[in-house]
Amino acid sequence: MPTPPPTPTPPSAPAPAPDSRSAAQDVNWEDFRDHLATADKDGHRRWLYPKRVTGRWYRWRTWMSWLLLAVMFIGPFIRIHGNPLLMINIVDRRFSILGQIFWPQDIVMFAVAMLIFLTGIVIFTTAFGRLWCGWTCPQTVLMEMVFRKIEYAIEGDAAEQRALDAAPWTPRKAAKKFGKHAVFFGLSFIIGNTLLSYIIGSDQLLRIIRDDPRQHVVGLAFMILFTLVFYAIFARFREQACTFICPYGRFQSAMLDENTMVVAYDNKRGETRAPLHRGQSFDQRAAAGEGDCINCRQCVAVCPTGIDIRNGVQMECVNCTACIDACDAVMDKIHRPRGLIRFASLDNIARGTKQRFTARMGIYSAVLLGLITLFLVLVFTRSAVETTLLRAPGSLFQTSADGRISNLYTMKIVNKTAHDIPVELKLLNHPGTLKLMGGDLVVEKEKLAQTSVLIDLDPASLHASGTKLKIGVFSHGRLLETISTVFAGPRHDSSSETK
Ligand code: SF4
Ligand code: SF4
Repeated sequence: MPTPPPTPTPPSAPAPAPDSRSAAQDVNWEDFRDHLATADKDGHRRWLYPKRVTGRWYRWRTWMSWLLLAVMFIGPFIRIHGNPLLMINIVDRRFSILGQIFWPQDIVMFAVAMLIFLTGIVIFTTAFGRLWCGWTCPQTVLMEMVFRKIEYAIEGDAAEQRALDAAPWTPRKAAKKFGKHAVFFGLSFIIGNTLLSYIIGSDQLLRIIRDDPRQHVVGLAFMILFTLVFYAIFARFREQACTFICPYGRFQSAMLDENTMVVAYDNKRGETRAPLHRGQSFDQRAAAGEGDCINCRQCVAVCPTGIDIRNGVQMECVNCTACIDACDAVMDKIHRPRGLIRFASLDNIARGTKQRFTARMGIYSAVLLGLITLFLVLVFTRSAVETTLLRAPGSLFQTSADGRISNLYTMKIVNKTAHDIPVELKLLNHPGTLKLMGGDLVVEKEKLAQTSVLIDLDPASLHASGTKLKIGVFSHGRLLETISTVFAGPRHDSSSETK
């Protein structure tokens, strides 16, 4: 059997990276499960100094983040059929998703849309782990691709930041710190206003900015509150938001299995980890039972949550792939194949199997498909208007001089479209007269109109058990909706009905 060519001796190994945490802290990496990566033994916060990262995954993330940031900041100003791309106006209970206005009456549709969103995340997590967190979550995108880059630009890379923090206060340090926090605050103001515009709409936000501040005290209070919250998150709280606040990281363990793609360390290839000595070949390492991991800790140094991915899948890992880039750079340097840390399933690493479409993914996908079908049915069968007819408070029926019986109703009608709708009502199943008390009715776009309706019937046509009426809501002769009610007469005493 031909002997394989000897592995070339690596030119030099990267020096072990300083820990991304405070250099003053000494960490025992073997007991990582017993303590948090960002807290010392007394429970005090360890401030992280993630090293600047470069590499192909980081490049792709950067492009992705530019796209997401553009959508995030331009989104409130994008209109579809005159409606916002996305608006969650909890105050006025008006919601717009992809330009479709949802009213409180559309709560079922809204709930289904939310279920689709959640099921989508579950399926995505089952297949691709927490890729959402590292690549698309606004918290990570803003922290790593905006605030972190500003920090690097002002204070330098991890080692310089650490040195700056340890140094005594000087005018230069004060200028750097003040400059950074001023920029952070300004950006937090912009982000806070963007969030506000997703809640109240960009038009209302512009009114708050332009008008006399005394007219929008509540809006201004929320502007300040959101700014302070975002400033606190990005200037101080940082990765703690992912590890302590966000529930997603915690329930991911229920969704991951051995076939889920995650950022994973190939322990079969990497262990036993050991420093690479000058002149040592990888054949010699293999003979000594040493793997490809040279324990340089570059993967730890770049991690924004301060963990060591070599310890296995951890709750704190947001799948940002920074450690992949760091390790690939090391592998290039020591002439070993890339991918010691890679995006792979645990099955792939343990048994070399390919990514599989599991039964669980199939069930989740079927549920998602069902929900999407239900949502589409609801959207396409949704009426342009939503009408409610209630008997006028305190009234039962009236008898006119000619003996006819009349009932007075209060009608509320919601126009869910982006255009005004003229409305007329007709009795569909019973002879009689129906009169809109306010005259012709035009319901303004996205508004609710209210009027009184008088229905007048011949007493001979009334049923003893209550007269059920069907009423058509028409616009330009086209039936938009059919509502029903019960007409009260002298020969029975029915309770009022709606809809
Ligand atoms: S996994 Fe890669 S980056 Fe991390 S310590 Fe080992 S060789 Fe270095
Ligand atoms: S372990 Fe790697 S992928 Fe996970 S958060 Fe740290 S750097 Fe990102």
